[in-house]
Parts: sequence; C-alpha cells; structure tokens
Amino acid sequence: TFTFLGGAIEFENVSFSYDGKRKVADNLSFRGTPGQTIALVGQTGSGKSTILKLLFRFYDPEQGRILIDGQDVRQMAMEGFRKHIAIIPQTPVVFNASILENVKYPDVDCTDEEVTEACKAAALHDKIMTFTFGYQEQIGERGTKLSGGELQRLAIARAMLKRADILLLDEATSSVDSITEKHIQTSLRKLCAGKTTLVIAHRLSTILHADQILVIRDGQVVESGTHKVL
Ligand code: ATP
Ligand code: MG
Repeated sequence: TFTFLGGAIEFENVSFSYDGKRKVADNLSFRGTPGQTIALVGQTGSGKSTILKLLFRFYDPEQGRILIDGQDVRQMAMEGFRKHIAIIPQTPVVFNASILENVKYPDVDCTDEEVTEACKAAALHDKIMTFTFGYQEQIGERGTKLSGGELQRLAIARAMLKRADILLLDEATSSVDSITEKHIQTSLRKLCAGKTTLVIAHRLSTILHADQILVIRDGQVVESGTHKVL
C-alpha cells in the first residue's frame, strides 16, 4: 500500500504529450527531498504547468514514472492521493456557491473560524467584508465577483485549510499592491514550511528562497542548482 512519508518527489524519465506528437515533457527527471522548495523557471510554453498537472495526476505520463516517497503515484487511489497535495493554479476553479463553501472545497473538515483565519492570512478577508453577505456572499458564475489576484488568494486560503504534505504553486503574474504582495508572500512562506513545494516562479524573491532551481526548456531540465550556482 501507498503511504506518504514526508513527501519526497521524483520524476523518473517522464515523457508526456497532449497530442501524441509533440513532447511537452521529454525524458524529464528531477527529485526533491521532503520539505524542499523547488522552483521551476522557463519561458512560456516550456512545460512548467504541465509538470504540476502530471504530479497532481490530471494526466498520466506516457513513459517514465512519478514517485512520491519512492512509490509510483499510480499505486494510490486518486481521492486519497489528492488529499495529500494542494494545488494553487494560475486560474483557480471556483463554483457558483458562497465564499465560505468555495474556501472549504473540497469539503475539508474545518470550522468557520478556521476559514476566517485562512482568509485573513491570504489577505482576502477584508475584501470579503466588503460584500453585503460577507462569507455567505454568492461568488457568481466563474467567480466574477473576484479579480484574478483575489481568486488566487482564495486558492491560497483553500490550500491552507487542506494541510497537505505537498504544495504545488503556479505563481501569479498579476500584480497587486506592494503591501498585499508582502502579506501574501508571508502567508505563502508559512504555508510552504515543512511541505515539499513545487513552485512555478515568476518572482525573484521566490527564486531566492528556493532550495533548488530547475530551468525548463522544451519539456526538459536544461540547468539545475541553487540561485548562487546559477
Ligand atoms: P506559461 O509560462 O505560459 O504558463 P508553461 O511553461 O506553463 O507556460 P504549459 O502550460 O505546460 O507551459 O504548456 C506547454 C505546452 O503544452 C504549450 O505549448 C501548450 O500550448 C501545450 N498545452 C498545455 N496545455 C494543453 C492542453 N490542455 N492541450 C493541448 N496542449 C496543451
Ligand atoms: Mg504555466
């Protein structure tokens, strides 16, 4: 049986293609030890988001294996597997339901107070307080009442409640004011602490904090090391 033991990640010669022709992951190999923060950098279209999607098992590799704590991820039932991994995508998925229900998704066992705490830490609480119905406000079709940055903060609050072992973060490129930015960075750092984190990094500060940096080009790791080495 599959057991999470700290969240060591390994991609072992992973290849993947969306169309069966062009490889978006091309014999890709890397590993991360428990608690490490690994930053992925590379040009648009190089395959960074696909790496996160493969690890979250939106897709299966065509060749190679993805291992967590030395075990092939395909050995574990999907539902149980995903409880251990929190993903903060560039465009988070939200539902036409209340803010409260959206932050709690997927039915995490937590109190309303914990939701409030998470939203404060994610710099979203003040925005929610501007709504007539506060946490009971309906978020609207596809979350149209929230901006792109606010939606990503909602995903951060969601990830905080999940208490996962592994964190996948597709860092936002959308700019927010510098105070909010600082607030979010502090929350994210707290969120990452003790978790193995795979982050698609757009900010220099994220790269500076990473234990390992992987430069991705055409679905391959073309360079790796620490900020000092690169
Ligand atoms: P960006 O920095 O712009 O977010 P990225 O490095 O995250 O880029 P990916 O999203 O992994 O890149 O995409 C890699 C390649 O795979 C791109 O050429 C993209 O067009 C293609 N691709 C991504 N998702 C799909 C999909 N669902 N179906 C088909 N092709 C896809
Ligand atoms: Mg991407």
